[in-house]
Amino acid sequence: MSLAIISDNLAKIRESIDEAARRSGRSGSEVTLVGVCKYFGTDITRQVAEAGLLELGENRPQQLWEKAEALGDLPIRWHQIGKLQRNKVRRSLPMIRLFHAADSLRLLNEINKEAARIDIVQQVLIEVNVSGEETKHGFMPNEMESILEKCSQFEAIQICGLMAMAGLHSGLKGAAQEFESMRELRERLKRTKPENVKLDELSMGMSRDYHIAIEQGATIVRVGSSLFEGIPRF
Ligand SMILES: *Cc1c(COP(=O)(O)O)cnc(C)c1O
Repeated sequence: MSLAIISDNLAKIRESIDEAARRSGRSGSEVTLVGVCKYFGTDITRQVAEAGLLELGENRPQQLWEKAEALGDLPIRWHQIGKLQRNKVRRSLPMIRLFHAADSLRLLNEINKEAARIDIVQQVLIEVNVSGEETKHGFMPNEMESILEKCSQFEAIQICGLMAMAGLHSGLKGAAQEFESMRELRERLKRTKPENVKLDELSMGMSRDYHIAIEQGATIVRVGSSLFEGIPRF
């Protein structure tokens, strides 16, 4: 039963991604949907993959490990979208396609060391605290130029872009402004960034605001709740 509900929700989300992309002069195929399955266990997560969504995100590393191992028979690409503690880098890296939430140089340094050790190049987004809320993680916009300069020296990390979350208290209007300032920040940084740093990706927008984020240029949206509407959590 839940597979039908999830498939239906997924179709609706893809439709509104298409519409929002068109409003920003793009096509929906230029926006990557990451399904955030953190509210559910392995069984429901498997159904999301079976419904055809193979880009999946988790907030907590332990949950990602558990699911990546249990669902190893499916070609899922895992996104770590929440905080990663340095002592969890070693176990996480082999499973993560894209890490969205790099928020300190110490963490980046650890990722670089570990990626070099296992001979991979880890794809990473730098998290920006665009709302300035103290509870939010990420670098402040005005330190980004020097952060990218430092990132260019990590030989086992590929910086792919930026990630941000709208402020908890921003409302939809405020979120739109924050997403717009992320787009402007990216344009500005593109002019000064080191050559080996890429800023192609802009990961922003969740269930309540992904349509707005896409209008402002998001290339990746992280959608959880909307995917599971109609499915009891417990
Ligand atoms: C939970 C979470 C999401 C998805 O949130 P929904 O409101 O359920 O869509 C997106 N990004 C991050 C970082 C999250 O922790």
